[in-house]
Amino acid sequence: MTGRFPASVDVAIVGSGPTGAAYARILSESAPGVRIAMFEAGPIVSDPPGAHVKNIADPYARARAQRASQGPSADASTISSPGAVTSGQRSGRPGTHLLQAGFQAEGEDGLPVAAMSTNVGGMSAHWTGACPTPRGSERITFLPDLDELLGEAARLLGVTTNAFDGSPFAEIVRERLAVVVDEGREPGERVQRMPLAAHRRDDGNLVWSGSDVVLGEAATNNPDFALYPEALVTRVLLDGGGADGAAGAAGTGGAGAATGRARGVAVRDLRTGETTEVAARFVIVAGDALRTPQLLWASGIRPEALGRWLNDQAQIVFAARLRGVEGLDAGQGASSTGLSEYSGVTWVPFTDEQPFHGQVMQLDASPVPLAEDDPVTPGSIVGLGLFCAKDLQASDRVEFSESDLDDNGMPAPSIRYTLTEKDHETFARASERIVVLGRAVGELLNDRPFRLPLGSSLHYQGTTRMGVADDGASVCDTNSEVWGAPGVLVAGNGVIPTSTACNPTLTSVALAVRGARHIASLLMS
Ligand SMILES: Cc1cc2nc3c(=O)[nH]c(=O)nc-3n(C[C@H](O)[C@H](O)[C@H](O)COP(=O)(O)OP(=O)(O)OC[C@H]3O[C@@H](n4cnc5c(N)ncnc54)[C@H](O)[C@@H]3O)c2cc1C
Repeated sequence: MTGRFPASVDVAIVGSGPTGAAYARILSESAPGVRIAMFEAGPIVSDPPGAHVKNIADPYARARAQRASQGPSADASTISSPGAVTSGQRSGRPGTHLLQAGFQAEGEDGLPVAAMSTNVGGMSAHWTGACPTPRGSERITFLPDLDELLGEAARLLGVTTNAFDGSPFAEIVRERLAVVVDEGREPGERVQRMPLAAHRRDDGNLVWSGSDVVLGEAATNNPDFALYPEALVTRVLLDGGGADGAAGAAGTGGAGAATGRARGVAVRDLRTGETTEVAARFVIVAGDALRTPQLLWASGIRPEALGRWLNDQAQIVFAARLRGVEGLDAGQGASSTGLSEYSGVTWVPFTDEQPFHGQVMQLDASPVPLAEDDPVTPGSIVGLGLFCAKDLQASDRVEFSESDLDDNGMPAPSIRYTLTEKDHETFARASERIVVLGRAVGELLNDRPFRLPLGSSLHYQGTTRMGVADDGASVCDTNSEVWGAPGVLVAGNGVIPTSTACNPTLTSVALAVRGARHIASLLMS
């Protein structure tokens, strides 16, 4: 032991979100005896560690857990309902913290509300749990086992489709949407229940999956697995150097870029400030789509594509009021935690012809004030969101500099991000489409739909993308192993190489399963 940390392990995992947790789970299940250490910069905010904060019944305790996840900027303004966000506002969702600087270069669109969570469980302690499968051009065609991997990811995340079957208005919403969506679509592309990482307990309460569910009993009870909260990994260590930052910018690769086998990590104990080295045969960097490239870059691991192909799923939103449900029994409806339960979550799948991913769900409050003498049937205000797939460009990127440091003393990220003409066309189409969907559901509540500030999706992808060849357009191979740095693997939404509109966590956990199986087979051979 060195301080709190072991001197050596077989596998060091950086980050405790669902993708890091997937490595711990698969290794615990398939490689008994392998020593695994998971280092997480943030604190434990829920019990069991990594649990979703929406499962915390006491609203004050829940708010405390959210604040504790917001890192050094915990006092920055947050908003409690997606319906309260209006274009131009720069505020984060509870449990997240925004990039304080570098979110928009002059003359560019930037990602003004790019956000992160810093806590055990990462964003999965705060997420909505929507787990749709990718379709059409969203799919990663060079992975023949993609469907099997997605199925395994659903097992790890505890995905169900019946969590809201008791919701009084869910079927009405689906039926109304189906009228304008389903014609000409394959069964899998039709309006349906959103697969959700949530389940009902025997007492009827809803339980949202966080990293605790992904870790499962296999990792939690594994004596060879240990989680270290408040432990910031500052460098990935390679044989033959690469531990110190080297000159160059993300995407330049070449000069100063380190290559070599993984030999461990340097970890700063945020409780004492002491930094120690932990030897490891494999290092999994699962620090989110902004901080995974940050750590690689800080470690001198700089493949040409690092930080590039950054893409966010811009969101067009609208609200409608269900008509014809007055007087219907709203049943249990209001939930003590998380999402209200009147209308569930409905999925309007992405297709290549309609390249938007639709998520239709209850809003806790109307986004526009309603007249005082206009009583609102509980649960009758429905939010519609269409996530749009980005027109991918290598020039959209997160980059880092030697001189600017973030609150942790790591190279500060700055975003270079521009919408293309095609993106604007997609938004225009999505805006037209969402009006059709809104009218089908009920009475429209706004004059016109609006686009949330870029970064609101919390789904940033591409920055450590997977590819089949070390051709400068990808960071890792199909097992998530970084080109030129054997034993270093990347995990998270950044690994997804395609332009997707659907929520990405199921896919990134699926990719993590593949990487974990790969190293399990190497460790057990
Ligand atoms: C409000 C909200 C709603 C969402 N809804 C959905 C949804 O419905 N469906 C969906 O698919 N996705 C959703 N998401 C996004 C989803 O939560 C993320 O896709 C998912 O958590 C990503 O998992 P991850 O393991 O890659 O990273 P994260 O969950 O972001 O975890 C990364 C962790 O790594 C830690 N870390 C970073 N750098 C270091 C370092 N150097 N050393 C140590 N630790 C480090 C961070 O502190 C963090 O805890 C939502 C997110 C939020 C906040």
